[in-house]
Amino acid sequence: MVYPHTWIKLARDRAWGKQDRRCAYCHGELARADATGDHIVPRRDGGSDRVGNIAAACGLCNLAKGSMAAGAFRRLLKGHDPAPFRILLCRVIRRINLEGDRAVKRVLVFGGVG
Ligand SMILES: [Zn+2]
Repeated sequence: MVYPHTWIKLARDRAWGKQDRRCAYCHGELARADATGDHIVPRRDGGSDRVGNIAAACGLCNLAKGSMAAGAFRRLLKGHDPAPFRILLCRVIRRINLEGDRAVKRVLVFGGVG
């Protein structure tokens, strides 16, 4: 018998490979040991532990997303609307990962450091 947590790990590892070893949400490089299995459709909304419903995510994104649906979380990350701090943090990390040095410079200027 394959236990549910083992199945989720297998699904997570498969997603991790398909996602080019990056977090599904912030696109940060993700070591296999740091990857968590995130339910794209949350369990509370009927989401299953099947391969197609598991994304590999970093711990911070998984925590910030909580039981939100993946699409809603991605919209929050891409948007500019006020959001809880944990989501703003993922938003900034995502921008840094996607835009590299330009984003770092903007964050530093915004923070009064640059
Ligand atoms: Zn992430």
